[in-house]
Amino acid sequence: MKFGGSSLASMSGVRAAARRMVATQRRGHQVVGVVSAMASTTDNLIQLARDILAKPPARELDLITSTGEVFSAALTAMAVRALGTPALALTGGQAGIHTDDTFGAARVLNVCPGRITKFLDKGGIVVVTGFQGVGSWGDVTTLGRGGSDATAVLLAAALGTETCEILTDVDGVHAVDPRLVPNARKLSQVSYLDMLRMAEAGAKVLQLCAVQLARDLGVPLHVRSSFTNVEGTRIGTVKDKTDGLVLSVAYIRESGKITVLAAEPDGGPALTTAVLDALDSHGIPILLSRAETDRVVIFVDRTKIDSSVRILYTRLIAHVEQPLVKN
Ligand code: ASP
Ligand code: MG
Repeated sequence: MKFGGSSLASMSGVRAAARRMVATQRRGHQVVGVVSAMASTTDNLIQLARDILAKPPARELDLITSTGEVFSAALTAMAVRALGTPALALTGGQAGIHTDDTFGAARVLNVCPGRITKFLDKGGIVVVTGFQGVGSWGDVTTLGRGGSDATAVLLAAALGTETCEILTDVDGVHAVDPRLVPNARKLSQVSYLDMLRMAEAGAKVLQLCAVQLARDLGVPLHVRSSFTNVEGTRIGTVKDKTDGLVLSVAYIRESGKITVLAAEPDGGPALTTAVLDALDSHGIPILLSRAETDRVVIFVDRTKIDSSVRILYTRLIAHVEQPLVKN
């Protein structure tokens, strides 16, 4: 059960995460938690380092940023203990996550979760720091921004867990960022390939590298809200059936890039006119556009991202009937 930073933003969030893990254990599961740093902690730590030295050395920067997750893990483990359940907080290294020595973007070489399984077998809950491992010299290494997702996937694979839950502040993966379009359509089942396309086009719900690992290691993911028990989005080998031509609209704000992903792998070119017309009818200038096999990519002024994404969602996705596959 991986808890994102927004789910752990306050003490009540930490307690809620602990309650959720304990409740899951009481239903008969063994539970491993993976925690991110609280809210914007990582950004703040990086800023502090940069205030001291404009280009901080990668090794020390990893040591600093890793503390965000260390704090979360220790605190969450204590919150579990406060509920009367034995809990053990482990750093990535202590959890057996061995990496190469590429600070800031370390590659995981192997995972030896012996210490985790021992504690689970004694009836406890283990809380592991996300985002980090240990390099060949015993140094703390980090896995890149958003790396707690990768930690969760790697541990799930090494432990052979039934599920890997990604608990976050949205209730699943949506056809468009639900922070921009509050009632955006939620996808119930997404294939690894489609999730990879979405993450690579800018969807921030999951780290791209974590999706690649999940696909390569065959780990099914369940992205869901940490605040409710509503079923979220399952990512695996099955995908929703859709009548529409469009899978999703994703964007990268800093570069003004919007990607309209076609539902079919060869559906890109057929979408071009609809994409261009939609923005044209609202007078939004397109700086550059390109049709690729499975997508249409456009660039607009950065200040026009929000309105463009909303228009594209409304015109291309919202009205299409979606017969969801229920299992
Ligand atoms: N705390 C790290 C970050 O902000 C890792 C994560 O949250 O997954 O990038
Ligand atoms: Mg994240």
